Amino acid sequence: MLPQTQCTQCGFSGCKPYAEAIVDQQAPINRCPPGGTVGIALLADVTGRAVAALDASCGVEAPRKIARIVADLCIGCTHCIRACPVDAIAGGPKRLHAIIPELCTGCALCLPPCPVDCIEMIEPPRMLAGWTREDGDAARARLNRRDARLTRLARSERRRLAEHETEAATAETSAIMSSVTASVSSAGIADGDMANQAGAERKRAMIEAAVARARARLNPPT
Ligand code: SF4
Ligand code: SF4
Ligand code: SF4
Repeated sequence: MLPQTQCTQCGFSGCKPYAEAIVDQQAPINRCPPGGTVGIALLADVTGRAVAALDASCGVEAPRKIARIVADLCIGCTHCIRACPVDAIAGGPKRLHAIIPELCTGCALCLPPCPVDCIEMIEPPRMLAGWTREDGDAARARLNRRDARLTRLARSERRRLAEHETEAATAETSAIMSSVTASVSSAGIADGDMANQAGAERKRAMIEAAVARARARLNPPT
């Protein structure tokens, strides 16, 4: 029933968290400005709660706007792409970015992160005016795809870092082992038998401690 702009005006991080709070009786049904009066009536219908006026502290009901990037000013920092919850911005590092008007929900979440203030909210062309249930469903599908992609990327980054750590720990262990082994050898040649034995014990303890440290790094406690 919620419009899926993901604008956060309701005070939640998106439409789904707000919907869950409504279902859990943790939030009133009148906190969604994009849904407006019609949205409140729909929510009242499905929840059985009383219709209430839109909570003005969340914002005001207004016609849909869409974002537009002022091309001459864009520095290609990609901050806006990362902020857009529904993948409605095209661009790449150090390249001009552009809003895809058909996909823009008008949430305005891309404005604050832009370091040069080159994004503005404008009236959409007439063919894009309004926001239908189908628009909302499509926006939700894009949000879900984006979330899945970001989760995949975060997982693969964690795997890459873990592999890097393992390689570094293995290299460090090899280096320690080589250096300690070289020390043991040279101590064996230089010292007498008694001193040699004590030295070898000490070196063995050093090796064991180094191996234990390396193992701890390779298998950190969970
Ligand atoms: S569209 Fe409504 S429910 Fe969704 S995030 Fe915005 S205010 Fe909240
Ligand atoms: S382009 Fe900006 S205003 Fe449009 S959906 Fe993305 S973040 Fe929201
Ligand atoms: S945040 Fe602003 S400057 Fe950066 S890429 Fe987006 S529009 Fe361009």
